Amino acid sequence: MLKALQFHRITDKFQFCGTWNYPEQLDNFIKTIYENGYKIILPGEKDDGIVITFDDGEENLYYFAFPVLKKYHCPAVVFLIVNYIGKKNYWDISITGRNRHLDWKQIHEMKKYGIAFGSHTMSHRNLTRLNEQQLVYELNESKRILEKNLGPIDAISYPFNRINSYVLKKVAEAGYKYGFGGEGDSNLTLKKEAVYIIDTPFTLKIKISENPPLLYYYERLQQKIINYFTIATILNKKGVL
Ligand SMILES: [Zn+2]
Repeated sequence: MLKALQFHRITDKFQFCGTWNYPEQLDNFIKTIYENGYKIILPGEKDDGIVITFDDGEENLYYFAFPVLKKYHCPAVVFLIVNYIGKKNYWDISITGRNRHLDWKQIHEMKKYGIAFGSHTMSHRNLTRLNEQQLVYELNESKRILEKNLGPIDAISYPFNRINSYVLKKVAEAGYKYGFGGEGDSNLTLKKEAVYIIDTPFTLKIKISENPPLLYYYERLQQKIINYFTIATILNKKGVL
């Protein structure tokens, strides 16, 4: 069974949001995965294993996640928001301030060590709210620019996990083979288990378990609640907040 873990920000400074982890936590989680006999793989390598993903491609990944990944020779996929490569974050609201994103130099260095990259679209918009032209731009243009710089790109992670059948049709047409987000019923809707600051090796084991106990459903509910609050970002875009 293919399972994906979704990380966002890795930093040693306390953040006023749920979607971040200390580097020591990432280290502990990777150790837990290996100690429990799982394989950490890249999409397309095998049908069975854990894919470690990082959404948004913030620069803190270079300073805090990359050294941990190197230590374990652990593969991972970083999903980049193409319009923000090398720039500060203007798409998210966060009281901890704007975060800079990875630049091409850092991306190339990480790639040399086996870190893979995928698209997190051009500008991190809710894909289900776009017209055809906007959707094609987010999907195809991000793939084109990433491929020009990094070679073949076949994975995408959906902003805010928002998809519908029309979005998936356009994702397939754009040539993506692996889509992260959804309920896990196809390669374009691979389920990602979000990892939060409150997670421990114990809750992580529940998330990656093949036969999850009842507690797992509590975990999924908790993820849904935290995702709900990310809608604040969407409302902010619309000028509601
Ligand atoms: Zn994102």
